[in-house]
Amino acid sequence: MSTTTAEQPLLTARELCKAYGSTTALRGASVELHAGEILAVTGPSGSGKSTLLHCMAGIVRPDRGPVLYRDERLDHAPEVRLSELRRTEFAVVFQFGQLIPELTSVDNVSLPLVLGGTSRRAAQEQARTWLERFGVLDRAEARPGELSGGQAQRVALARALVTGPKVVFADEPTGALDSLAGEQVMNELTIAARELGTAILLVTHEATVAAYADREIRLADGRTTSLEVSA
Ligand code: ADP
Repeated sequence: MSTTTAEQPLLTARELCKAYGSTTALRGASVELHAGEILAVTGPSGSGKSTLLHCMAGIVRPDRGPVLYRDERLDHAPEVRLSELRRTEFAVVFQFGQLIPELTSVDNVSLPLVLGGTSRRAAQEQARTWLERFGVLDRAEARPGELSGGQAQRVALARALVTGPKVVFADEPTGALDSLAGEQVMNELTIAARELGTAILLVTHEATVAAYADREIRLADGRTTSLEVSA
């Protein structure tokens, strides 16, 4: 069956399998992520959500099953290509912001741009725009240790979006926040992603977080229980 480019998924995982020694994390997980959509992958702890996200982001190689970014096989791609993608078209947000502790907020957010060849001055300017966007410009010169959990996660969102990625991989992005801060972070992340046309693969075990997504896929015991496709 032929499909037009517009209908083609941005990212596809088909029947992924992954084992860590004797522990099988994935035993047939299939996902299609379309451009600009927010897709939640939900399921109980240990069901394979993080492993699936890592395989789709090119951080972990699956044992079996293709991962396709448009038409490109990521599961076979050389590390140098995966690093390039993670610097340009992909971005990740983890439960704990994982900011570089020695760098200020503005330098943390500038870093992906500087690594991509933007001058420090121009990168800092863009970084400040994103810090302002997420309401933490007044913390631009603070280091991660001086930030609240919510502030640190906003800086991490700014760092994820500053390059204008095609996909943000968000692994329990509100897991370390109280419910109010978590809701604010999800609100800000999803509004910004919709404005940029950035797709989000959102891993969460919380229904309130999944509610921000356009669609939801469930994982149980390493298998997706449904492969839903956008209308
Ligand atoms: P979830 O995100 O749904 O909690 P994970 O993908 O983190 O699930 O884990 C799925 C299973 O794989 C669990 O049994 C977990 O202990 C195991 N696992 C995940 N990562 C590793 C690893 N790096 N080494 C060994 N086992 C792992």
